Amino acid sequence: MTQYKAPRGTHDIYGQMALALEELDKISRAVFRKRNFKEIKTPMFEDVALFTRSIGEATDIVEKEMYVFEDRKGRKLALRPEGTASLVRAYIEHRLDIEEPMGKFFYCGDMFRYERPQAGRYREFLQMGAEYLGNSNPNADVEIILLAKEILSTLNINDVVIHINSLGCQNCRPMFRQKLVNYFSSIQDLCEDCKRRLEKNPLRLLDCKIDSQKFQNIPTMQVCLCEDCKNHFKRVQSLLKTVDCDYFVDDKLVRGLDYYTRTVFEVRSKVIGSQDAICAGGRYDNLVKELGGQQIPSVGFALGSERVLMAAQNAGFFNKLPKNDIIFIALADSELFDEAFKFANNLILNKNNIKQKLNLQDNIVVEGPFLNKSLKLQFKLADKIEASKTILFGKTEFDNGKIIIKDMKTHQQQEVSI
Ligand code: ATP
Ligand code: MG
Repeated sequence: MTQYKAPRGTHDIYGQMALALEELDKISRAVFRKRNFKEIKTPMFEDVALFTRSIGEATDIVEKEMYVFEDRKGRKLALRPEGTASLVRAYIEHRLDIEEPMGKFFYCGDMFRYERPQAGRYREFLQMGAEYLGNSNPNADVEIILLAKEILSTLNINDVVIHINSLGCQNCRPMFRQKLVNYFSSIQDLCEDCKRRLEKNPLRLLDCKIDSQKFQNIPTMQVCLCEDCKNHFKRVQSLLKTVDCDYFVDDKLVRGLDYYTRTVFEVRSKVIGSQDAICAGGRYDNLVKELGGQQIPSVGFALGSERVLMAAQNAGFFNKLPKNDIIFIALADSELFDEAFKFANNLILNKNNIKQKLNLQDNIVVEGPFLNKSLKLQFKLADKIEASKTILFGKTEFDNGKIIIKDMKTHQQQEVSI
């Protein structure tokens, strides 16, 4: 028989990891909501043009990472590689500028990129992101950075560095671009990717993993920024200082998507290995207009959930996952199965406040009863799943209207009337 395996680059999430993910989801939702960010769910696939248009033709994502397919009617679609384009599409389509005038949204979901799989790099992965639409003020950039930082610190992930940079705007970036083209043109033996990008997207050469060692004294955007962009970037930094948020100005920081303007940032963690970016984002003042909406300056970020969990695991998060008491219903006599089955159901529904009467907590987990398993095996199972108590149905006790509650740690048992 064929042994089926999960497709290359995908991974199954189960056990502790699934619990941790659930907890991460809860924690981040609470942080988003505190700052009045509202959830938006968009489809996992969209018109492929939405992504090529927004992310940019000459980017890794569009050139080689997208899952593109045609449906039965010949529509060209793509599995979403990121969340911002879809969110902006939905914002324009549903006139959310009117319905949600604060323009604050968050999303959580699967993204798809055809990349070379490695630790922390998958072909299907999870992102949580926030977008703040319609606020051009530097305080929006800072709010977005703080939001990301707060999610991480709630998970005890404090060992991170926030890299920030400014990519300027339509007015000043062309000068930077030209300087880069001049600079890179003088460098011998650029890799094939860099040669190709030099024409289309010279900023991308800055984070080429192959050629970056060859680059010295690269022109920086800082010196090219126009007055407005300079002031914007200064204000972002002074506000970050005001709220005691440490950051590092990294003039080599560029992003793999074309829509960014002005502030870009990345949160990196050394503890998770070479794929050290756990969160990335920035300002995109022209994207909404590019996609057919009004001029709505905006800023956002995306956190990679798997990488966040790697960092969280390192910070001891997995040892502190909430754990509910498990109550195992055991049967000494199989003829009592129906009674025990009914009891388990009543316990789950807390009929007649049975939990309180039995001194059990409200959030207990109920397991069992099972037929055709020896009592020994039932207790073994109860131990295996780390049940805190076993409620045993035995013929003699039951005929007297009683059950036995056994504490699995102390091994004490008591008979209780039901
Ligand atoms: P990288 O430089 O690691 O490729 P990126 O710049 O492509 O990241 P973004 O598109 O900005 O990443 O996505 C934001 C976050 O999503 C990243 O910081 C990372 O945590 C996560 N992420 C991106 N690609 C992947 C992937 N293939 N697998 C797992 N997580 C990913
Ligand atoms: Mg990438």
